[in-house]
Amino acid sequence: MVTGPVSAHRPAWLTDARLASLRRWVAVPASGGAGTTTAIAPYDALPTVGVPAGTPDDVEAAAARARAAQEPWAGLSYGARAQVVLRFHDLLVERQDEVLDLIQWEMGKARFHAWQEVLLLGTVARHYARHGQTYLEDRSVRPAIPVVTRARELRIPKGVVGIVSPWNYPLFLGVGDLIPALLAGNAAVSKADEQTPLTLLWARALLAEAGLPENVWQVVSGDGPTIGAAVVDNVDYLCFTGSTETGRVVAERAGRRLIGASLELGGKNPLIVRADADLDLAARGTADAAFANSGQMCIHIERVIVHVDVYDAFTAALLAATSAQRLGQGLGFGYDVGPLAGQAQLDRVSAHVRDAVAKGATVLAGGRARPDIGPYAYQPTVLADVTDDMDVCLGETFGPVVALHRVTDDAAAIAAANRGRHGLSAGIFSRDTATAQAMARRIRARAVNINDGAGLAIGTVEAPMGGRGDSGLGRRHGAEGIRKYTDAQTVAVSRLGPVGPPPHRPVESFVALGNRQLRLLRRLGIR
Ligand code: NAD
Repeated sequence: MVTGPVSAHRPAWLTDARLASLRRWVAVPASGGAGTTTAIAPYDALPTVGVPAGTPDDVEAAAARARAAQEPWAGLSYGARAQVVLRFHDLLVERQDEVLDLIQWEMGKARFHAWQEVLLLGTVARHYARHGQTYLEDRSVRPAIPVVTRARELRIPKGVVGIVSPWNYPLFLGVGDLIPALLAGNAAVSKADEQTPLTLLWARALLAEAGLPENVWQVVSGDGPTIGAAVVDNVDYLCFTGSTETGRVVAERAGRRLIGASLELGGKNPLIVRADADLDLAARGTADAAFANSGQMCIHIERVIVHVDVYDAFTAALLAATSAQRLGQGLGFGYDVGPLAGQAQLDRVSAHVRDAVAKGATVLAGGRARPDIGPYAYQPTVLADVTDDMDVCLGETFGPVVALHRVTDDAAAIAAANRGRHGLSAGIFSRDTATAQAMARRIRARAVNINDGAGLAIGTVEAPMGGRGDSGLGRRHGAEGIRKYTDAQTVAVSRLGPVGPPPHRPVESFVALGNRQLRLLRRLGIR
């Protein structure tokens, strides 16, 4: 229950009646579960609106409802499930203004970056609705014994999939990872992030309107260590997106239950500026990739590795591109960079910059909070002279802070890019795209953007995207992004009954026959 002043930025269309129609999708008993959780709005540091919080028992009950709904849902044709997703796509595009308002109100990002969530989610929905069936098609495989046996590989839904995702992309991550799970025939239980529950509930209501049967997608709410953990305890597969630290906790818990998990975790992403790069494009791309969503993006750029020959010119161009970024807040398209999402983010970003400055880093731009703009606003920041002893060097800042590093050649650039334990995304700016592609192979990041800072690879939804090392395990998008929600099942059929020595015949003759087959297949080059 919220008492005292509340956030003044609540969208006008979010009347009490509309709010009730969203809250109804939280899976809690009529008794009220565990009270409410209330987020703090980044624009004025005041409470948004309370959302009912559940208990572990509520999560168990929600998972049971999802389980009961899963078989009938899986029994529909892929095409019927895809129709629901395509209707959702159309409603999303039509009603986007509402969800843009909610994203902005709940976590503060600039409206253009909120719209990118709509763009990405729409793209994912369309892709899997139209193409997902191809990724899941049954296939004939070479049988154990030619002629007398045959075999097929099938894709069976996991059952109930758990989705835990963070506040930084509450629509794209919260729903983008759900869509392929549903299309593959699973039911799902999602934990709404504490900061952004209304965005997820809005999507929940929209999917209901698109025709998703009532219990197929359950949304639970509450704190991560209790309710997130309960999700892990009750599902057959987990799709987790969040910090490396929580990812380890979640992976251990999933490991104890022997359920699979995809873990999409943090990054410390590098961008290489080669000597032949178009420096204006590189500067613009770096600023976009470093400051989009106020740097609260797993794939955003925090380290820029610049060839010494162009270091000064590139730095001047980057500083111009940085000062062109309009920092502001409020519902609407009027600025490029919004505030950080909350006090914890502001504390973390401020601490990284303070530590760097205390240890000798040079602030070329920004380097300070902007309370004159909003309680959590932080100026886009460019640092130089960053050394290994600084937290900002290889630790994820997750804010609008980028550090410049100088290198003398491509080999040194690759070595610098490969420093640290993360391996999520990277960028290379170069006019020589053939050389840049060759370099990409040697960079230990699982997405490399050439002549773009961050968004191109993740927007290529036909190809998988994910991390290595501390950036996690598993992939979203492409074939892997939907197959992960299924188990491969092999169905082998014998035309002549059990495979083995026939009765009343010596085993030796069966063994001799088997050996002849081995030699023959080898000689014929058959796989
Ligand atoms: P976080 O790990 O603190 O929280 C993520 C989610 O996990 C939240 O909803 C939280 O409630 C829940 N949670 C917390 N403890 C849990 C537990 N013990 N069991 C189950 N769930 C639990 O992450 P955050 O700080 O909110 O998000 C930012 C991080 O996410 C950054 O590190 C960022 O790089 C990463 N991220 C990664 C990707 C990617 O695709 N690789 C995308 C977005 C964000």
